[in-house]
Amino acid sequence: MTDKLDPRVFHLLSYGMYVVSSKSGKKINGCIVNAVAQVAATPPRIAVSVNKENLTHDYITKSGIFSISILDENTPMKFIGRLGFQTGRDVDKLRDIQYELGTDDCPVITEHSLGFLEAKVIDQVDVGTHTVFIGEVMRGQRLREGTPLTYSYYHQVKRGRTSKRAATYMPPAPKAEPPEKISKVQEYQCEVCGWIYNPELGDPDNGIPPGTPFEDLPEDWTCPLCGANKAQFKAI
Ligand code: FE
Repeated sequence: MTDKLDPRVFHLLSYGMYVVSSKSGKKINGCIVNAVAQVAATPPRIAVSVNKENLTHDYITKSGIFSISILDENTPMKFIGRLGFQTGRDVDKLRDIQYELGTDDCPVITEHSLGFLEAKVIDQVDVGTHTVFIGEVMRGQRLREGTPLTYSYYHQVKRGRTSKRAATYMPPAPKAEPPEKISKVQEYQCEVCGWIYNPELGDPDNGIPPGTPFEDLPEDWTCPLCGANKAQFKAI
């Protein structure tokens, strides 16, 4: 045992993938979060950590209500990219996304959602870059059968990246000497969100079969996570 902090320990914690939504007046917005937990049973209370820079953070602070939608494991990356890597200050993030208006007209995302919880804020804690909102649950419903998307599945199977605004974001460690390249295929990385195109895996969600070199991708192909175009990728 040492008294040092090994940052890899944080990777052992488990998280999910959720959309937290809120409103301010008639304006509505939502964003992806991974740190959500039920923290008390009677009455049921949940906690969510939201980056202070997110528009949804402003809305929760103003309206005192929010909803949490629990995403399905099959949620397309484009859906996550729209809600997780774009900002409601620039685009109407909920346009073309299925939602309903719940209590006090707070939006509840129903698309790719296995269920939702609606809560009113009873307390909040400033934790630096983020605010932890504690909510008393007012309503909740299961919408469909399925497996909830976990954060590790998002990373390991869907090859998702961590937004710099996530509660669990850690700057990349300085690069160690790369291991000797043994006829490794050429990967390309999105300069906007960091998603990596691996030709061996392709992009099956968007009709690109495994084994497709980056050069052969259609010119109108875009990053499955953030929507950046081909020119915004660089070889790594
Ligand atoms: Fe991207």
